[in-house]
Amino acid sequence: MNHKTALVTGANKGIGFEIARGLSKQGMNVLLGCRSREAGEAAVKALAAEGLSATALVLDVTRADTIAAAAQQIDSNHGRLDVLVNNAGISAEGRVSPSKGDLNRVKQVYDTNVFGVMAVTQAMLPLLLRSESGRIVNVSSSLGSLGLTSDPDHPYSKFNLLGYNSSKSALNAITVQFANELRATPVKVNAVCPGYVATDLNGRTGPRTPEQGARIAIQMAMIGSDGPSGGFFNEDGRVVW
Ligand code: NAP
Repeated sequence: MNHKTALVTGANKGIGFEIARGLSKQGMNVLLGCRSREAGEAAVKALAAEGLSATALVLDVTRADTIAAAAQQIDSNHGRLDVLVNNAGISAEGRVSPSKGDLNRVKQVYDTNVFGVMAVTQAMLPLLLRSESGRIVNVSSSLGSLGLTSDPDHPYSKFNLLGYNSSKSALNAITVQFANELRATPVKVNAVCPGYVATDLNGRTGPRTPEQGARIAIQMAMIGSDGPSGGFFNEDGRVVW
């Protein structure tokens, strides 16, 4: 039995739910960060039906009060955190070209995908530093890869989303910055791309299943002390920044 505690944000559905399911199967105490208590409890029930145990935690990554309360609750109940998966993310723009991008929507995307990750990471870091092997996994996207999206011949250069893509580029930069700060500690910080997965985020258009999308995040949540930090990975290995 593995007595590690893991927090997954946006865990009530999609890739986050599957990451939580996978970590629970590994025997971790999994906390499902969900902005809706009802959706969180429904996800806990779905896991319980498979014999997996998890706990719902109200956590809206754009609300400082819920972040502080979640950190307090984890401190009181577990005393530390071993794994943080920053999975919660949105794409609120629709398929409009950058010149037509609605900046209010872009700001909403940044609030969740960028500032939400910064805030949750800062709040959880003291708890992660109490772990012998703290791991932070940021669920990014290859659409945030400047190397891939700047290649006019690459299919991702056709998905030109002003807010979403740049929010994931920023998330990659944030990953490197936290990894650099934490190099002298056991905490490892990596970004992952789940691939193009059929979820509500994209109207369920992706060819991959949420379970497949979750694999790389689960893998990076469980890397050993000899594993990488400050990298960007998908199931095939490193993704170009
Ligand atoms: P999804 O099914 O729409 O799930 C998104 C999750 O994030 C939901 O649980 C949602 O909660 C939660 N969330 C949104 N805003 C939140 C907030 N402010 N606070 C807390 N939770 C919040 O989408 P998904 O595809 O699984 O996306 C998961 C992650 O994978 C995202 O970071 C996304 O950018 C990334 N990703 C997805 C794909 C893909 O092809 N699907 C590809 C690359 C990367 P509610 O149910 O309350 O809305």
